[in-house]
Amino acid sequence: MTVVSTSRELELASRRGFITNLEGSRRGFITNYPNVTQWAGMSDPEMRERDPLNIYVHLPFCAQQCSYCYYRVISGARKAEMDRYAEAVCKELVMAVQHYHLQDRPIKSIYYGGGTPTLLQKEQLQRITQTIRDNFSTIVAAEFTIEGEPVTMTQKKVEAFAELAIPVTRISMGVQSLDDYVVQFQQRKDTSDKVIKAIEIARSSGAVVNIDLMSGLAGDSLETWKNSVNKAIQTGVESITVYKTEVYANSQYYRELRKNALHLPDDAEELTYMEYALEAFAQANYLPWCSFTFTKDGQFPHHHPIRIWHGEDYLPLGTSAFGKIGDQLFQNSNDPEKYLQMIEAGRFAVHRGHKLTCQDKMVRAVLLGMKLTRFDLDQFAVMSGYRLEKLCAAVIETLQEDGFITLNGNELAMTRKGILHGDYVGKQFGRALQELG
Ligand code: SF4
Repeated sequence: MTVVSTSRELELASRRGFITNLEGSRRGFITNYPNVTQWAGMSDPEMRERDPLNIYVHLPFCAQQCSYCYYRVISGARKAEMDRYAEAVCKELVMAVQHYHLQDRPIKSIYYGGGTPTLLQKEQLQRITQTIRDNFSTIVAAEFTIEGEPVTMTQKKVEAFAELAIPVTRISMGVQSLDDYVVQFQQRKDTSDKVIKAIEIARSSGAVVNIDLMSGLAGDSLETWKNSVNKAIQTGVESITVYKTEVYANSQYYRELRKNALHLPDDAEELTYMEYALEAFAQANYLPWCSFTFTKDGQFPHHHPIRIWHGEDYLPLGTSAFGKIGDQLFQNSNDPEKYLQMIEAGRFAVHRGHKLTCQDKMVRAVLLGMKLTRFDLDQFAVMSGYRLEKLCAAVIETLQEDGFITLNGNELAMTRKGILHGDYVGKQFGRALQELG
């Protein structure tokens, strides 16, 4: 409690906005908070600066239905169906730009995810990309990522990426495994030879190439996993991402597990796979910029998720797409036909949402921010007004003792053990912040 005795102290306390010893007094009318004496000077351009925006476009078409996949995908679509979908995405974009007054917000990253965006024809990709180009005033050096399956990665398609209204800068390929014994369990149309050829084609585009692997797939053993990781490193791609296989209710895996018709490596086995991967990546100088992606010399970070993890807005377009505008999280309908009909009728197809509370923002900042393996405590204090090391002193102490993190001045850093355990560290902080009330 501030005790005010002299008139000078009274004036200072009043300027800060609080006078706490005048119980029952009407003195000290609050006009603003924080008081203007705590504000910094601001130039005209700073004042008019618009918040950055990122764009996520969901393209749900696939050439296959992989056994582990839980996404609602459309396989066997014809050209007319994809044309209709591309039109709807363009219409949704124009509606959103007008509704949220987005036109002058600088576009920092664009992500075409799926599904298999590279299944679309060049004209369809161009239609969407040109609409983005036409509806925003500032798209400078924006990162543009397209997800693609190896089976769709032809030379012609890859050459088309550079000719789009905004050139593709990053290609992310869902490889999952480079071991043919494992691939045959996944209902994929791949072989490791075909995939390696597709990776070479993608690399010829000059874009940064990332390949995704999944650890603990059906058929995996330490031997198959080693084979897959070693082959992935030999491709020379800039970036390798590893996702742990998880089983979701609407996947073929789930149905087969229920019938006892499938065996998956357990968590302990999968951990040994990941231990091997961390060591192999380190020896090849693939370093983690986040807890599941390893890049040559730690370069080539993927800016789209980094921006989202730092709390920037992202506009969702397409069925199932997730987004955030201001404090509002939302997701479009995951029923493609419903999505199309609503957009064609000139209505947004939002299906659910959540307004972020102050506590949500703090939890989200740590949960998502810790994925980057390093966490800036000053930035958290600027964002939230609180010191994480005070709010979560016991968590920090335990995680340090258990070897998951180190605390170096202003920064929490995940150790190799912390990285090995993925989101574990972030979740400990998230839980402690939620328990604050
Ligand atoms: S894993 Fe990729 S290619 Fe396979 S069904 Fe899912 S989205 Fe389609």
